Amino acid sequence: MTLAEKQAFLPYGHQWIDDEDIAAVVAVLKGDWLTMGPTVDAFENALAEKVGTRYAVSFSSGTAALHGAMYAAGVGHGDEVIVPPMTFAATSNAVLYMGGIPRFADIAPETWCLDPEAAQKVVSGRTKAIVPVSFTGFPLPLEPFRALAKHAGAVLIEDACHSLGGEREGRKVGRDADMTVFSFHPVKHITTGEGGMVVTDDDEFARRLRLFRSHGITKDPAQMRTVPHGPWYTEMQDLGYNYRLTDLGSALGLSQLRRLDAFVSRRRELAALYDRLLPELNGKTSAPVVETPPTHPGHAYHLYAANFEPAVRKHLFEELRKAGIGVQVHYLPVHLHRYYRERFGWKEGDFPVAERLYGGEISLPLFPSMENDDVSRVVGEIRRILENM
Ligand SMILES: *Cc1c(COP(=O)(O)O)cnc(C)c1O
Repeated sequence: MTLAEKQAFLPYGHQWIDDEDIAAVVAVLKGDWLTMGPTVDAFENALAEKVGTRYAVSFSSGTAALHGAMYAAGVGHGDEVIVPPMTFAATSNAVLYMGGIPRFADIAPETWCLDPEAAQKVVSGRTKAIVPVSFTGFPLPLEPFRALAKHAGAVLIEDACHSLGGEREGRKVGRDADMTVFSFHPVKHITTGEGGMVVTDDDEFARRLRLFRSHGITKDPAQMRTVPHGPWYTEMQDLGYNYRLTDLGSALGLSQLRRLDAFVSRRRELAALYDRLLPELNGKTSAPVVETPPTHPGHAYHLYAANFEPAVRKHLFEELRKAGIGVQVHYLPVHLHRYYRERFGWKEGDFPVAERLYGGEISLPLFPSMENDDVSRVVGEIRRILENM
């Protein structure tokens, strides 16, 4: 890539770090605590307040946070957890970490998210948790899953790694499940470098999440079953991990959180522009159709996922990359990953709605520091490529 090409390269997502963010991290570097200090607490408290939950427990990544949520829910060997195939592998990998079995259920064509009817069909006596994913940031209504979870005696965990800052009927995403998981990877809405969080209103889930992210060890004498030998004493109660978020990351997250609303509203503006410009391609070219993503007033737009005619997807993807537009495909449905095929025997045709979406999907560049002209450029390139096919 030449320098000019590199400069013109438009990625599909990008963090936005400003001078205040940098100053916040530097302040922590000059202080006493690099990890497990007061900035972790401050970030957790601020996020809980933003979302409107009693507790927020930070983790070293969104994946670690999902693992923690599976532990807190009590997922154990042979327990089943219902997940959609249209997600990042981490959602169902977290089930496997605990010895559980992911039970995939297809997505609905109207929402591109877990279909409540499909989920209902795979509920069994071993269903321990149901994990809808608000794919791309679409705030999937959770009532049907809540009813299903209640009926099955299962825990409802929302994988909201795409939907921080989204809303359902004026409530922030994070309040509608027993536990809700966020990621702070740099392509997500706000970043801590690597990081994640679980929010909940439940005392016991919060206690188990804290235990799990720090070796399963507690320092709180009130929680111990052994008699403390002295003030130094800690009790390891279960097998946990070191999944802690640093103060450095928390300082960045806390600073970024102040701009979350602005980030989300800018993402919505850019998505609305795509929604307006893309359908024009359907009328004006002989080339096939593009379907714009499901809309929702509370959409958080982590991704702008357009669904193209499968026959043009590969060529369009390659040509967009050549034109310096960093498109992506989200996602290869998890059941079609080699590991899942070989271990569980899943195959093409098992989840047709997710597979159809995968066949045509291209995630177009979307991040808050993009200009409106960038959206026009992307759509212009798509038009050019389709017209030349
Ligand atoms: C990003 C993401 C994760 C994992 O988050 P990390 O912070 O990258 O570990 C899990 N689930 C979904 C749906 C994601 O998009």
